[in-house]
Amino acid sequence: MALTNQQYEAIMKGYEAVRTRNRHLCEERHDQACRRLPQYEQLEASAGSISVEYGKRLLDGDDTALRELRAALSSLARQKQELLQSIGLPKNYLDPIYNCPDCQDTGYLLGSNQKCHCFRAQEISLLYEQSNIREMIQKENFSTISFQYYEGEDLKRFQEAVRISLDFTEHFGTDCQNLFFYGTVGTGKSLLSCCIANELLQKGHSVIYFSASGLFDTLARYSFDTHNKEPLYQFYQDLYQCELIIIDDLGTEVTNSFVTSQLFACLNERALRRQSTIISTNLNLEELRDRYSDRIFSRLTSSFTLCKLSGPDIRIYKKRMRK
Ligand SMILES: [Zn+2]
Repeated sequence: MALTNQQYEAIMKGYEAVRTRNRHLCEERHDQACRRLPQYEQLEASAGSISVEYGKRLLDGDDTALRELRAALSSLARQKQELLQSIGLPKNYLDPIYNCPDCQDTGYLLGSNQKCHCFRAQEISLLYEQSNIREMIQKENFSTISFQYYEGEDLKRFQEAVRISLDFTEHFGTDCQNLFFYGTVGTGKSLLSCCIANELLQKGHSVIYFSASGLFDTLARYSFDTHNKEPLYQFYQDLYQCELIIIDDLGTEVTNSFVTSQLFACLNERALRRQSTIISTNLNLEELRDRYSDRIFSRLTSSFTLCKLSGPDIRIYKKRMRK
């Protein structure tokens, strides 16, 4: 799927607004600092005059001028930092402010025409109907997780799954991890996927949530449209390159050879690109092996952290508690 011009413009306008806001903030900080530190302004003024002076020497063919200019400017920069620190401000207090240092709020990685991760995150949330996850996210995050519905072995499993989920979130982007939540209905699998998605979306990562049936239906619709291959190509790009995809309720789709081959391709392509995947299912491992190919089973059990959850159906439990 691709952005319409209008969607693209809206994202770019958003970046412009962020840059303007940050520039104003920076100017305010600058004015405040100069009021408290008149010497700061003098140092800034001398940086200007030094540059002009060395510029003239450079034009006159003085080869040492550039080196000396750099040394003089870096000495001035140091003095400015020391001044700021002398009134208890951090030394980078007046540096430019960026919400995303990777692209300096331009949407494109510096010096390239490659879209930044923060752009991709916005693109994906515009392109994919994320209503499912958005709704769940509003209610569920790590701080609202409750352990009261579990006891004994079930509680231990859930605690371990929460620990693994937190660890996954914390190290996201530095190492490529995959999670596989399995167990009976209503034991917290989708809840944990949502908590993870919530954290990562807030940090500006691109996350796409699919129900298994939704994912394979979409793939089938695009694949069998022989007249127009572009949407399928775009969809694959997102499916394979998005930083995290969540496939919820694997096994609720009509599993056939098309689904099996698409699932394997998806796992394989994402592994090649070192992008993370989270899968949840009500199937147990035996059912999983019987239902999908050996190579899928082997891929899942070898490159995913398996988290088994058990216990009563929390949704029924919660309903009963409310009554
Ligand atoms: Zn960025």
